Amino acid sequence: MSTAASPSFCIAKSAAIRRATAAVASGLNPSSSYRPRLVRNTPVFAAPVAAPVEMADPVERLKTGFEQFKTEVYEKKPELFAPLKEGQWPKFMVFACADSRVCPSVTLGFEPGEAFTIRNIANMVPAYDKTKYSGIGSAIEYAVIHLKVENIVVIGHSKCGGIKGLMTFPYDGNNATDFIEDWVKIGFPAREKVQAEHGSKSLDEQCAICEKEAVKVSLENLKTYPFVTEGLAKGTLKIIGAHYDFVNGAFEIVA
Ligand SMILES: [Zn+2]
Repeated sequence: MSTAASPSFCIAKSAAIRRATAAVASGLNPSSSYRPRLVRNTPVFAAPVAAPVEMADPVERLKTGFEQFKTEVYEKKPELFAPLKEGQWPKFMVFACADSRVCPSVTLGFEPGEAFTIRNIANMVPAYDKTKYSGIGSAIEYAVIHLKVENIVVIGHSKCGGIKGLMTFPYDGNNATDFIEDWVKIGFPAREKVQAEHGSKSLDEQCAICEKEAVKVSLENLKTYPFVTEGLAKGTLKIIGAHYDFVNGAFEIVA
């Protein structure tokens, strides 16, 4: 997710509540007249109003992108791609944000086959829980037990919209999103730590600190997976926390 100068989520949410209240007061059925989705669709942590570059036809963009990859990469590196037809042996499992600016294959130069990658809002790793987040649990299980990755890396990043959400959502029992608040709440211990230790700093500064603290929370959560703790104990697995700052062009190991 990206951040931008935009109304705070609290404002969008209170507007939604006001509309719902007004709908009820006017005798309308809130379920039909109250459309929080319209509120949600206003830019909150979204992109700037105008994209800097107009895109061509999306299907053409996909086709030309693949043709370029095929001629400039795939056909020029048979030594890389031939073995991958038989299997994959990645040394890394990587958690990165879904933010379009932080693709780890680009920023860290991972080749195909090198990094088993999960990308989600704010690069969160939830604690082991067989009743939910099975998309994440199954990926960790597959990476560690079947692919036998040697490193799990969690990479936070600058200006993360998910972290800004974590730091600003009211969490008062009235969620304004279907999924986002619940998801980024995984990093709640990081929010509490930042608010306790850096509460006098600006929101931007708190978010920058939280980006790294949330990575540390995810590393702790990784240790709740039995196959991860077993790998750590045996020395066959390492967990690494990192942060990519695309404003200053910096990469830092944070844990
Ligand atoms: Zn992000």
